[in-house]
Amino acid sequence: MINALITGGAGYIGSNLADRLMAEGYQVWVVDNLSQGKLSNIQHHLRDSRFRFEQGSILDEELMERVIAQVDVVYHLAAVVGVKYVVENLLQSIITNVRGTEVVLSLAHKHGVRTVIASSSEVYGKFDQVPWSEDSDRLLGPVGIKRWAYADSKALDEYLALAYHGLGSPVSIVRYFNSYGPRLDAKGYGSVVAKFITQALQGKPLTVFDDGLQTRSFTYVTDTVEGTYLAGTRAEALGRYFNIGNGRETSILELAHMIRNSVGSSSEIVFVPYEDAFGDRFEDMRRRVPDVRLAAQALGFEAQVPLEEGLERTLEWFRETHYLANPQGVNR
Ligand code: UDP
Repeated sequence: MINALITGGAGYIGSNLADRLMAEGYQVWVVDNLSQGKLSNIQHHLRDSRFRFEQGSILDEELMERVIAQVDVVYHLAAVVGVKYVVENLLQSIITNVRGTEVVLSLAHKHGVRTVIASSSEVYGKFDQVPWSEDSDRLLGPVGIKRWAYADSKALDEYLALAYHGLGSPVSIVRYFNSYGPRLDAKGYGSVVAKFITQALQGKPLTVFDDGLQTRSFTYVTDTVEGTYLAGTRAEALGRYFNIGNGRETSILELAHMIRNSVGSSSEIVFVPYEDAFGDRFEDMRRRVPDVRLAAQALGFEAQVPLEEGLERTLEWFRETHYLANPQGVNR
């Protein structure tokens, strides 16, 4: 039986990956400090003898060594989530993302354990020539604008991973593109999809930032998980970094209309300046689109779930877990 550790395994992507690995017959270990992850995301596995949950921090080297010494592969997904969270918790974000990854990589190296490092499309910054291939240039704004700390922290994680690969560690990197699906945090940290669904279900205005013509490539969570799984199993993945995303580009305004229609909501769509949401120093990227060819060639990965279908499934989950339980609003 293959033993896998998922750091951040009680989080949104981590717990969906846990479902997948459990279905594959793995022994799954989860380390999560439950700062942004939730026990409810993994509740259904807790009684299974193939599942082990350790509540703790990736910065706790003793805990991490005890677990990593017993597994064959580590999926390192523990990280802070969401641009807004990073802007509001800068120091903790940098330490979690950088020191935490170094702890994981150094212990995996010591014990000869395969590792997948979760990175982000944020590393490309605001480079405007899309689609971005894995070796596209990266363009970040000034240090005074806090959002770029997230891109820098993830890029440093990637450098660390490649450095350990240079020392002989079997390491791969996945760059996620706007993943969405069941178990997204309902408050909308890290996901405009969750935010708009919640607003539409509550009959509140959908808050489109700026002119709403900025675009993203929304990737349904089963696709995100599949790309991650392939990166942890394919020999071709070693020492390389991959875009894990859906190639379809959608504007935020279009997304707002799609969600409002799917919900059947009469919410209005309002335009909010970035300054009102983030303070006076903020930058966003106008477009974010992956070049999906490398992941297709090397991993055999291709996103499968169309946005319309993914939104329906996500909406269904939100209705079941939040709205029906508490029609007044989000209940956790
Ligand atoms: N966004 C928005 N309204 C919101 C939250 C986000 O218009 O209430 C926009 C945000 O400015 C960005 C896009 O939606 O252009 C995606 O934001 P998200 O936080 O989901 O992820 P990001 O791509 O910024 O990491």
